[in-house]
Amino acid sequence: MPKYIVTIGLEVHAQLKTQSKMFCPCPVEYGSEPNTHTCPTCLGLPGALPVLNEGAIEKTVLTGLMLGCTTPPLVKWDRKNYFYPDMPKNYQITQFDLPLCIGGGVPLYDLAYPKDVQKNIPNPGKVVKLTRIHLEEDVAKSTHHDKFTTIDFNRAGTPLMEIVSDPDIDSAEEAFAYLSSLRQILVYGGVSDADMEKGQMRCDVNISLRPEGQTELGAKIELKNLNSIAAVRRAIHFETARQTEALDRGEVLLQSTRRWDDDRGETTLMRSKEDAHDYRYFPDPDLLPLHTADILARVTPSLPELPHQKRARFTNDYGCSAYDADVLASEQSLAAYYEAAVAAQPAVAPKKLANWVLNDLLGALNDASLTITDCPLPATALAQLVAIVESGKISGSQGKEVFAAMLATPGTDPETIIKEKGFEQVSDTGALEAMVDEILAANPDKVAEVKSGNEKAMNWFTGQLMKASKGKANPKILSDLLRSKLL
Ligand code: ZN
Ligand code: MN
Repeated sequence: MPKYIVTIGLEVHAQLKTQSKMFCPCPVEYGSEPNTHTCPTCLGLPGALPVLNEGAIEKTVLTGLMLGCTTPPLVKWDRKNYFYPDMPKNYQITQFDLPLCIGGGVPLYDLAYPKDVQKNIPNPGKVVKLTRIHLEEDVAKSTHHDKFTTIDFNRAGTPLMEIVSDPDIDSAEEAFAYLSSLRQILVYGGVSDADMEKGQMRCDVNISLRPEGQTELGAKIELKNLNSIAAVRRAIHFETARQTEALDRGEVLLQSTRRWDDDRGETTLMRSKEDAHDYRYFPDPDLLPLHTADILARVTPSLPELPHQKRARFTNDYGCSAYDADVLASEQSLAAYYEAAVAAQPAVAPKKLANWVLNDLLGALNDASLTITDCPLPATALAQLVAIVESGKISGSQGKEVFAAMLATPGTDPETIIKEKGFEQVSDTGALEAMVDEILAANPDKVAEVKSGNEKAMNWFTGQLMKASKGKANPKILSDLLRSKLL
């Protein structure tokens, strides 16, 4: 049986977070009464003139900067002509040969891969090359009922950014990582919420198979209508198996477009190459070409630190493990919380703070179905608690109890809870020394055991002393005292 090489390219449409639509001042708002945010321009009425949305252009240019794209000095908009029931003017305003961004790439983050392959990532550190990013308008939304269809123009004309990758993706797992990394970066830049389940990010998959050894790509099969990252992975697995079987049977695959049915878990033919569209692109005569130098200069200062840059800084500056840094940097608000804690207690090792944030805090938030943005415990208060535990004033397990109490009654300071619970340790060396002397004098046989090299007997003393102090003896001072007297 011949082996086949899978080649995948993705086209992602992402809704931009703007106040108004792409070519008119109608508000971009979801969940409103149908057809309440419309005007002659977004209804496609004859004679209505489009006006460019500056905010949408800035957000697209910012996306390009985040992904290392080049913005050409001059860009323009074109008409893509086709008959479509969701688009009454029978063309879409988009960008053809002079898009806002060219080239660049999407880094695939380790944690962006599906959980089951994170331990065995095929190409660690891979950056998937991009072809282009252009800015266009969305169409209206059709809803198909039993015997009729309704249409809502609230979505018509909302700004849509199309991110096109090179055929540079090798597997369903890489496609999955591409989409989740891309989503993370778009959210970081504040350009889109990019939630596929809410339709804010939609994806078409181009996939082809070719026999190993052949350089020319096989027939391109396009999968439409994918609305979750998990569905993209499943659809690629299905399609790889289907095309492999067909090629093994000696079938010749033809360029075609297929629809993914998520319930049935399979793809079905929509149209073949014979009825491919000829879009007859031409420059939109209502929109002037745009010089981009000023926009680039304006947007460049707002370029945020990206997840992978943050992660590198967390490992280098704070000594976080690669995994911890990955999780902390995966969400801007989580990273900000952590850095606020580090800044509040510069004397505490940042690695210790990372442990508390990742294990205790995230665990507790998860149990309470809360996110870091509605965390009731301020970063400074958590940092204060960690500093107290690290000083040895209370034990680690007492620290966990104080932590739980602080979460339950937001606004209380750790010192107050420690007093209330009577957790204060005896750190008075004089008092502890008296206790140590007393117990050593009362147990000469155990002392002899330690002196003959039995370290376990040392633990026996520690246990007795902790019991005698009702758990309040500072374990660090205790151990120092015992060692100085016995060894
Ligand atoms: Zn409008
Ligand atoms: Mn498009």
